[in-house]
Amino acid sequence: MKAELISVGTELLLGEIVDTNASWIASRLPRIGLDIYHKSVVGDNLERVVDTIERALSRSDVVIMTGGLGPTEDDLTREAIAEALGEEMFVDPDMERALRAFFAARGVDFAESNVKQAKLIPSASALANPRGTAPGWFVEKNRAEGDRYIIAMPGVPAEMYRMWENEVAPRLREMTSEVLITRVLKTAAVSEAKIDEMLSPLLKSTNPSVGIYAKIDGVHARIGAKAANEEEARALIAPVEEKARRILGAAVWGADDETLEAVVGKMLRERGQTVATMESCTGGLLSSAITDVDGSSDYFKGGYVAYTAELKIALGVNRAIIDEHGVISSETAGEMARAAREVLSADYGVGVTGVVGSDSVEGKPPGTIHIAIHDGERAESITYTYNQGRVVNKRRAVNTSLFLLRRTLLAAGS
Ligand code: ATP
Ligand code: MG
Repeated sequence: MKAELISVGTELLLGEIVDTNASWIASRLPRIGLDIYHKSVVGDNLERVVDTIERALSRSDVVIMTGGLGPTEDDLTREAIAEALGEEMFVDPDMERALRAFFAARGVDFAESNVKQAKLIPSASALANPRGTAPGWFVEKNRAEGDRYIIAMPGVPAEMYRMWENEVAPRLREMTSEVLITRVLKTAAVSEAKIDEMLSPLLKSTNPSVGIYAKIDGVHARIGAKAANEEEARALIAPVEEKARRILGAAVWGADDETLEAVVGKMLRERGQTVATMESCTGGLLSSAITDVDGSSDYFKGGYVAYTAELKIALGVNRAIIDEHGVISSETAGEMARAAREVLSADYGVGVTGVVGSDSVEGKPPGTIHIAIHDGERAESITYTYNQGRVVNKRRAVNTSLFLLRRTLLAAGS
């Protein structure tokens, strides 16, 4: 079955807000067995929304809409669906009662314009929205081209997410005959071309299919399988995943939604060890990432953001090293790692220094990064130059730091 998305809202059209709803929904369609060929964004204009719905109905089985369900004049998704299908709207007494009760329970005056949120058309049933006032619509319509479904959900992401998970996805899943399940293996420190070469024996397979994608946290190998249900799809994936893991070895640091900070955190916790940081160019982003993980206080001692050379020295970095090698050097990164480890009495210290901005520093070009991990005996370091602009450079340095820490922990053995 083919699905198509329509996001309604002038703010979206003008780029004032980003259409995160569409990407969120689109990424969830394969796993319930829906193909997607088209996405549209349309402003709050009745004629154009009607047009967009009609075009979608002409080529897709399921039309999924978000936005424009509120009480105001410019919320006109219901009106547009009614017009596209040639149906009359009516106020559903049960829905109106529920709506009035919702307002009364919160002690908020009921503006009569809200009644519009209690409207239905004969082909529509209401989708509950406990996080807000506007219920969604699930429309089923038999047309000359075949059965058609229109789903209208609120624009507010939190309301939409819940409605999708609880009301919409289970119903759509029952209508489809096949699901696409994916398993993502995440690697680091090996290039995209190299991963492609290593996995080439697996790349010809079509079900499961294997694809390779370069991401900010490394190269991902995505294994996707189509089957009648999730269990069968997972059974197709398992042997391919095993082969891929055997080929890629320690380059694989995680799978699916796992993050490097969570993976490294788990290793430290299991070993009962701790880490401390001294960051320069990443401005605290590394300690922020480490503390994005629940329970990080078990293994994170703390971190310094030591931007100037004076502060680095005040925190214990050897001035002679900076004088000899410069601030942007693996020697200074090693000193930062050593000092952080010592001052904060941690098992491991991480030091990060480099040039994330667009101008060279000490003759080192933008994107030059030095990272070091100190384990009490010696510093292990990584140096690279890769410039993709300040924000990406910082994030890449954080990921590389976490990857180096993982590598150090693996080398130390459990
Ligand atoms: P409301 O009852 O709040 O009016 P609604 O269903 O009418 O809900 P809109 O008025 O279209 O939804 O959007 C409400 C808010 O939801 C927007 O201001 C925006 O913050 C967010 N929003 C709407 N559509 C999207 C989208 N496609 N992606 C991300 N956020 C969105
Ligand atoms: Mg609105």
